[in-house]
Parts: sequence; C-alpha cells; structure tokens
Amino acid sequence: MTGSLSIAGLGPGDQALITPEVSAALAAATDILGYAPYVARVPPREGLVLHPSDNRMELQRATDALRLAAEGRHVVVVSSGDPGVFAMASAVFEALEAAPHWQGLAIRVLPGITAMLAAAAHAGAPLGHDFCAINLSDNLKPWSTIEKRLQLAAEADFAIALYNPRSASRPDGFGRALALLNDAGHGDRLVIFARAVSTPEERIETVRLRDARPDMADMRTLVIVGNAAMRRVGRWVYAPRHAR
Ligand code: SAH
Repeated sequence: MTGSLSIAGLGPGDQALITPEVSAALAAATDILGYAPYVARVPPREGLVLHPSDNRMELQRATDALRLAAEGRHVVVVSSGDPGVFAMASAVFEALEAAPHWQGLAIRVLPGITAMLAAAAHAGAPLGHDFCAINLSDNLKPWSTIEKRLQLAAEADFAIALYNPRSASRPDGFGRALALLNDAGHGDRLVIFARAVSTPEERIETVRLRDARPDMADMRTLVIVGNAAMRRVGRWVYAPRHAR
C-alpha cells in the first residue's frame, strides 16, 4: 500500500490561516474529499480529483477515503477549522475500526486553527483562563447530554465555546441553552457572538447573556460565554490570568 490519507484542517476561512503543512498536503494530493463547501475552498488543478459530498455523509466519506488511499491514491479529507474538533478525523478512525485491513495505511491528522481560537483572538482573550467546548447539535447525541454538560460547565465557571449553536433544522436548542444559563445565574456574563470569523463577512458582537437573543446566532457563528471574571477593555474582552 503506497497511498496515503491526511485529514486536514482548512482553518476558519482566511487562506493565511492555513498551515504550511496543510498547504503541502493539498499540493501533493491526488484526491480531495469533504463536505462540498470545504472542498470548494481547495483551488482546482490538473490531476486533482475533487469529491464533494453532503454534510451527513461522514462515515461513507471516511470509508471512501480509506479505500482510495488503499488503492494507492494520495487522499486529503478536508474539514473547516481543525479536523479533530467536531469533524472528520473521528469519522475516519471510526471507519478504520470497522476495517482492520486498512490499519497499516499511512494516515496523518493535520491540525488547523479551530473556530474557537480564531474567534477568541479577534475578540481579545476570552479563553485566557479555563474553558470548555460544547457542540450544541443534537444530531449525534441526546439533548439531555447537552443540557447536563452546560449545567456543569456553568457550575464550574468555565468559559464555554458553543459550536453549531443554531441551524434551520435545529431552531430551538440555542434558546433553551441561553435560558438554562440564565437560570443558572449567568445573566451577567458577557457573551461573544463571532460570525464568519476571518472572512469578509466577519462580525463580532458582545452582549450580556440576559440580553442575548437566539437569532443572534446561525450556523456560521461561534458563541463564547465568558467566565465570571471576563471583562471589557477598550474594544476587547478578556479573561484575566487569575481567577477565584
Ligand atoms: N472543525 C471545525 C468545527 C466544525 S462544526 C472547527 O474546528 O472550527 C461547525 C461550527 O464551527 C459552526 O456551526 C460554527 O459554530 C463554527 N465555525 C466554523 N467556522 C467558523 C467561522 N469562520 N466563524 C465562526 N464560527 C465558525
């Protein structure tokens, strides 16, 4: 088996935030697989086969990628941000578990800048103290699990990065998450809505949690709920290095 498979992160949007390692893998690839909008971010060139697919096709896409690599192709599976954060790297390993004969393949995970870090950098330093990340999509886990994690994260006073806050098919979850945090006594917290970070449509807005509305977020938004100590300085917000 002389093929290879890289699972690569394209970063949050800006070309300048793609690592040189990922650029090199893209330049050496024969095949690119991924969710169509991410594949569209890879410039086409002669000899490069693009395999865009639907968002819900993760396991199938992972299996296809492994098969192509086993056939000797140099395959790159692309994710936005980092491939290990709510993305394709886990799907590839899940497919690999079901196909032990492919476990000798040359597989690499190439990190990228995840949305949470790009959003935090453009807002200031809201993740400067302890934090956690929660995916608000209940496509792959029950809503009760999300609620429990939100509850405990609030109790522990983590800053909380919320991925996938809201979509057309899940219009209500984010409002419930905000209500839960309000009920947990977090109304005073600063909440950052970071939309389309590092693209021309970037918009960053910070409000108190009690003033946050569900329609302030969509699928291109990363939400950061600050910890108790997070505060404003000029046009930035930051979490101090010291906490109680
Ligand atoms: N693997 C990706 C996350 C995939 S989940 C990563 O590491 O960033 C998709 C979610 O990521 C979106 O719903 C949104 O919450 C967030 N996201 C991705 N790119 C973003 C960007 N440029 N600006 C703001 N949020 C983004």
